[in-house]
Amino acid sequence: MAMVMAEIEELRKISGVFGDTVVGKGGIYVDINPVSTEPSSTPTPNTRILLRADCDGLPVPEATGLPFTSTNGNSHACGHDMHMAMLLTAMRVFCARSPTFPLRCVFQRAEENPITKSGGAVMCSEDNVLQNIMEVYGLHVWATLPANKFYSRPAEILANSDRLRVSISCCGGHASNPSTTTNPIQVSANIISRLDGFDERTLPPQTVSALVPTILHSGTASNVIPNTAELWFGVRNFLPPSARSSFHEQLCQEVSNAASHFPLADLTVTPKIIPGHPATINSPTCVASLAANLRTHLAPGDVSTTTPPILGGEDFSHYLQARPGAFFLLGAHTPTSGDHHSPAFNPDERVLWRGVLYWCAIAYGAESESGESPDTTFLGSTRYACERSEWRQVETRDARREPLFPRSSFICSKRAESGPKRTTGGSKRAASGVFWSNPLAHEPYSPPINPRSPLARPFVLTAPPLVHTCVWPSLTLASLAGR
Ligand SMILES: [Zn+2]
Repeated sequence: MAMVMAEIEELRKISGVFGDTVVGKGGIYVDINPVSTEPSSTPTPNTRILLRADCDGLPVPEATGLPFTSTNGNSHACGHDMHMAMLLTAMRVFCARSPTFPLRCVFQRAEENPITKSGGAVMCSEDNVLQNIMEVYGLHVWATLPANKFYSRPAEILANSDRLRVSISCCGGHASNPSTTTNPIQVSANIISRLDGFDERTLPPQTVSALVPTILHSGTASNVIPNTAELWFGVRNFLPPSARSSFHEQLCQEVSNAASHFPLADLTVTPKIIPGHPATINSPTCVASLAANLRTHLAPGDVSTTTPPILGGEDFSHYLQARPGAFFLLGAHTPTSGDHHSPAFNPDERVLWRGVLYWCAIAYGAESESGESPDTTFLGSTRYACERSEWRQVETRDARREPLFPRSSFICSKRAESGPKRTTGGSKRAASGVFWSNPLAHEPYSPPINPRSPLARPFVLTAPPLVHTCVWPSLTLASLAGR
């Protein structure tokens, strides 16, 4: 978050489009107000569009072998570092070229947390992030989907992500006397067996659902019958609220049924549902219009709105419960990209460009052919260093005269954000000597896929010379689409 703040403040120096940065419990956000030629440029209420990037890492030790592998036991094993990178880079473009709509750029903490500590839920309920917001948009890289393509659906795309916790207690005893106490490990095994396929037997046919045992804790020694066990299940589905709670009741009843097979009176089995994020439900209108917008910049097959629902969870659902909007996935698969939340997770960095394009497409809308596109200079590459938690800019390179920082350094800087706490980051160890650079300056120009794209015109960032000095005259927004 410190680096996000530093970058926003840097951008603020080169452009007058930014409002105040609001630091909330669930993250930070900053408004961007379009430069208007009208007498009154104050955005009217409820017309602002919210663009959200989540920023948190996970307590997953990274094992990618990349030169910027996290060394503190935490890593960005879900790609949220890429989310920050893409939105921050889009904000640079907004500095160069005023967006069509008033925007609110959100950098949110703690997406991976349960609902009680979720950054998204807190931002919506306590941080006022939805005030004056008309529509909300999110984006997630997806390492199991083909790279460079966008995926969504005009309905629920991600699932209710609830959990079932079962606490089991009994007297416990010596392993030689199984008749004197109930064995909580056997009770757990019975519950797991009873719940295997329970969703398929209980819910209507074709219901998309997962009911998966995820945690089992019990026992300390091979000659002891333990006196407790704790068992957790992941409960994922797309059920509407009433069916969702009715299924929860059935689950708890089935756990009690499984426990009733154990005759001794020393046994207590307590099932409890821990509600998670609700399903992420897109507005069909927003999905259709954004998909049409993206297709004006991309090859027709690069945008799909018929993606099957996915059983992952997402706290962007809280935004979508309050406002219409859309959540898209950006494929980032390679043969070695691994799965999300795994130590080997390594999505394709080359899709960063498409993510920038996604935010630009929303910010500029489906522009008319006569839309203004001033000619441009482009961004340089800036290195930051962290000393005693203070980020400062230490070096800027000019691509006309010297090689820019390697693209991996761009990611490296974000990886450092994954700190000892899973929610906020801030690793002191990783902060030393890491740097930030601008990925847009690293790629050669490639022609737009669709030369008639309304964004296929050059744009220019007029930046103070000491801030960003690199000139890349042939870079256009549409060139992002061709990467
Ligand atoms: Zn994620």
